[in-house]
Amino acid sequence: MEHVHYHPSWIEIDTNQLKKNIQIVRKFIGKALYCLPVKANAYGHGLEIVAHVAQEMQIDYLAVACLQEGIALRQSGIKLPIIVFGAFHENQIEDLINFNLEFTISSMLKARWVKEKCEKLQRNCSVHLEVDTGIQRTGVRPETALDIFQYLDQHTCFRIVGIYSHFASSDLPNHSFAQLQIQKFNALKQNPLFQHKKIIWHLANTGGTAYYPEAHYNMVRPSFLTFGYVMGEIPEKLKGIAPCFSLKSQISFFKVVEEGEGISYDHTYITKKKSRIVTIPVGYGDGFIRKLSNCGHVLIRGKKYPIAGTICMDQFMVDIGDDEAFVGEEVVLIGNQGDKEISALEIAKITEANPREVLTLLNDRLPRKKMVHKIKESITETLKV
Ligand SMILES: *Cc1c(COP(=O)(O)O)cnc(C)c1O
Repeated sequence: MEHVHYHPSWIEIDTNQLKKNIQIVRKFIGKALYCLPVKANAYGHGLEIVAHVAQEMQIDYLAVACLQEGIALRQSGIKLPIIVFGAFHENQIEDLINFNLEFTISSMLKARWVKEKCEKLQRNCSVHLEVDTGIQRTGVRPETALDIFQYLDQHTCFRIVGIYSHFASSDLPNHSFAQLQIQKFNALKQNPLFQHKKIIWHLANTGGTAYYPEAHYNMVRPSFLTFGYVMGEIPEKLKGIAPCFSLKSQISFFKVVEEGEGISYDHTYITKKKSRIVTIPVGYGDGFIRKLSNCGHVLIRGKKYPIAGTICMDQFMVDIGDDEAFVGEEVVLIGNQGDKEISALEIAKITEANPREVLTLLNDRLPRKKMVHKIKESITETLKV
């Protein structure tokens, strides 16, 4: 954190808002366990910051996509149970066990690999059986789930912790395919084979959690929601949830440009009048989507200004017209400034991307830091009144 000045641009996480989101979701899901997937650098928010907040807030489970992310969590001192969702390779099994990660069995082949490895190492492992109810990604078909479950059940090296599936279309309420997947999952769950067994059944991602309460089962896995977003309307009981993510920078250069001048590569922006142009040190090399060239905005001094010309690898220009702004002043690319906001949802719409993609594209060149909640600010506010 002390090296934040190494890069003039940064991602800021409002941990108070993140905690508030967790509390609201926790209340909403009632008795169900709360699993927070923190894959892809916690949706760009920063794996360590988010995982430690989750641990402090006593989230029940974390989840990641791959072994590497699980190891990163363990190495940063996370003690919570962690599920690895992705289909692993044979050479990863030993480390999955060594780093105390629960992992996914998604086929008979994988089950056999693990059994052989466990016997060789004389170790046990904790697993979740993944059933594919219609996304056609990974997981066993419901018809073969019983066979694999029995196989796992017969071999004492397996501790079967959970059985789960994943939605193909749950971003919005009342989707018929989501309802079909719930039916398939229910049908499986009702099989006598599973009765009297302690199993965590889980299906719901963000949409499932927010819009399909019948899909909560024993555990929910909402990431996007926890970070403050839903794709449709926010249900009444989830009101108060808000993004906790900002992308900020500082003006690195200022100049006055004559009317009719072309700005940036290929001059795709021509000044309509003599204008003040500022340069912002963020580019597609940081993961800031180049498609925002000439159609995105930034906030400076609480006002929205257009991105002028093509976004370069490390910087882009903004036309502030006749207004004033100095080198070093704060610029908000995603987040709030004054009463204005530029949201990841809005950027996703403009660039035809998924908002998760807008956030996860922002890479490690940008340092992540926690927002400092200044008491000073509220004093200044009071003084103004
Ligand atoms: C990423 C992921 C989630 C979280 O989904 P969101 O809708 O983004 O919250 C849940 N479950 C699985 C299996 C995932 O891969």
